[in-house]
Amino acid sequence: MSISYLNLAIPNAGELVEVAQGVFWLRMPLPFDLDHINLYLIKDGEDGFALVDTGIGTKQTETLWEQIISALDTPITKVIVTHMHPDHIGMAGYLVEKFRVPFYMSHDEYFVGRAISAGPRGASDWQDQEYLVRCGMSKKELTEAQKNRQRSKGIGSLVKPIPLQFTRLSAGDTLTIDNENWLVIIGKGHSPEHVSLYNANSNILISGDHVLPHISPNIGVYNTEPNANPLKQYLDTLPQFTELPSDALVLPSHKQPFYGLHTRVNELINHHHEHLDNLRVFCQQGKTIEQCLPVLFKRKLNSRNIYFAIAESFAHLNYLYFTGECSRHINAEGQFIFTLK
Ligand SMILES: [Zn+2]
Repeated sequence: MSISYLNLAIPNAGELVEVAQGVFWLRMPLPFDLDHINLYLIKDGEDGFALVDTGIGTKQTETLWEQIISALDTPITKVIVTHMHPDHIGMAGYLVEKFRVPFYMSHDEYFVGRAISAGPRGASDWQDQEYLVRCGMSKKELTEAQKNRQRSKGIGSLVKPIPLQFTRLSAGDTLTIDNENWLVIIGKGHSPEHVSLYNANSNILISGDHVLPHISPNIGVYNTEPNANPLKQYLDTLPQFTELPSDALVLPSHKQPFYGLHTRVNELINHHHEHLDNLRVFCQQGKTIEQCLPVLFKRKLNSRNIYFAIAESFAHLNYLYFTGECSRHINAEGQFIFTLK
């Protein structure tokens, strides 16, 4: 089954479009290259709507939410967040506070989200500096990165204060919304314990960022855990989605609702294996993480997306390091050099 998209006009910012009976698609703007996020509202009896993901915590999203809430004229009954990235969790605190309703997340996403939005609290940043050096960034890029860091107000500025209480979603749990059961499926690699929701009755998968059409979710090794192996986690947690029916309607967090779940999952798996194969050839002579960027990215990278690209390159190289295919050592400049054995 090839990929096909729902024959629906993309909703304007703040507009609700019914994608299946009782399930509504809502788009919110993002101030990034990827300029939107999809949120989903599920009719929850006569009481209102359960909401999946919330939008980034900016004034613009808040204004849109104010308009939506007054137009809806029924309350939000539950706030469910797939993972802790600011475009998903950003407005959760605002909405939970406004409606005083339960807040659902997986354990790891909730606590990582709280930790990251709280910031370093004055902890020394030598390890962040070391991370950038290990990635193979030049002196000029390092100085630029440092300036950006001083300028940026951190992720916390894009996330409203996270509620102090949550209800845990774990793999295999069932979340009931208006007598409909949604199975909790956990994916790893894009984020620590990402929640997708599957309704067998309506054959709908809310896939969050774990399975996206058109684009491949960012899989990155970041400064907090340079020995992470998120690509292995991602590749390990993708195949479970091929156990769902191939004709499920997939509601992703970016781009458009689509059919062709199995095809897309296999495309994503193949995409990463292709990158790994190309790196196996490229790293026959030792390479830094930054030197590998052209192997993974054909497009020109700018100062906004290079950080994610470096993290993605790191993830692929760590994968090869942990399978034992590549060695990883530190050169005189303090950079990691990955060499095929
Ligand atoms: Zn994400």
